Amino acid sequence: AAELFYDNDADLSIIQGRKVAVLGYGSQGHAHALSLRDSGVDVRVGLHEGSKSKQKAEEQGLRVVTPAEAAAEADVIMILVPDPIQAKVYEESVKDYLKDGDALFFGHGFNIRFGFIKPPAGVDVCMVAPKGPGHLVRRQYEEGRGVPCIAAVEQDASGNAFALALSYAKAIGGTRAGVIKTTFTEETETDLFGEQAVLCGGASALVKAGFETLVEAGYQPEIAYFECLHELKLIVDLMYEGGLEKMRWSVSETAEWGDYVTGPRIVNEGTKAEMKKVLGEIQDGTFANNWMKEYQAGLPKYNEYKKADEDHLLETTGKKLRKLMSWVDDKE
Ligand code: NDP
Ligand code: MG
Ligand code: MG
Repeated sequence: AAELFYDNDADLSIIQGRKVAVLGYGSQGHAHALSLRDSGVDVRVGLHEGSKSKQKAEEQGLRVVTPAEAAAEADVIMILVPDPIQAKVYEESVKDYLKDGDALFFGHGFNIRFGFIKPPAGVDVCMVAPKGPGHLVRRQYEEGRGVPCIAAVEQDASGNAFALALSYAKAIGGTRAGVIKTTFTEETETDLFGEQAVLCGGASALVKAGFETLVEAGYQPEIAYFECLHELKLIVDLMYEGGLEKMRWSVSETAEWGDYVTGPRIVNEGTKAEMKKVLGEIQDGTFANNWMKEYQAGLPKYNEYKKADEDHLLETTGKKLRKLMSWVDDKE
């Protein structure tokens, strides 16, 4: 069974006794830095020259220095810059300032799991990863709640690395909701698999294929949009509240029957065999190496895929329809 930790299991004074550097001030960085500060932790933010988020961090009362200065001052360094550039930031601004007894923290295990960052033996290597977007992490903290986190230790040089990770998680509200112990390997592989096979990749491909099937058969794109994309949220909300059971309780018996007989024809043994292949390519590093190569080449394919979907009839139809639905909050 999973090991769970709550406020009473974590000692806030451990992280309050350290000097923390948060590198990056994006989705996660801003949430960690502000909540650490509000928990009485000595925190500085490390940002590169010309950073777009620098002004915001300063307006919010944080001290901003360069990543190298932050790493030099601190003894706990949390790396929250985008995953594909973490190794470069580590090489240029962190590595030379690591002393025995310091701790290197991550919000995702990608660079450690695939060996792009190789920390020296004398430092603790920990992960505290909130299971939610940064803006929710911060809002929940301010409201006295928290977003569940997972925590892991890759290297326990001090002998107290997990207690330090739990203390950090407490400072950002994680132990209010619960912290689950994992490993860098489990977090990285399940995170990549989940987003590729189910959450982002699987869901968007399913929606697109369903939409295209209806439109190619001559149905109106607007109707196809509602059936295949818009209503998905209502179904997912029910699953989130009460699992498949609550969703099936809420839909009609006809829909439930169709779920049983048709679902397995759409996501079938072949799909699952492909999922196993995808997982294999995550585990053996193929996905990570290809992604780093694509990133270093300046994202040629990434931009091509992005453009192709922007022009897809599903997206242009959705844009028009969402404008007419005042209750749908589209931040653009
Ligand atoms: P963002 O893209 O939102 O933010 C990146 C931040 O890093 C920005 O402030 C950016 O500055 C800054 N930055 C870019 N280059 C440098 C550099 N060379 N030196 C210093 N700072 C730099 O990242 P996320 O918050 O999404 O991701 C951070 C980490 O958190 C990743 O490991 C990710 O996997 C993990 N994570 C993210 C989650 C999420 O909700 N997004 C959820 C759980 C984990 P600028 O504003 O100038 O671009
Ligand atoms: Mg992910
Ligand atoms: Mg229906």
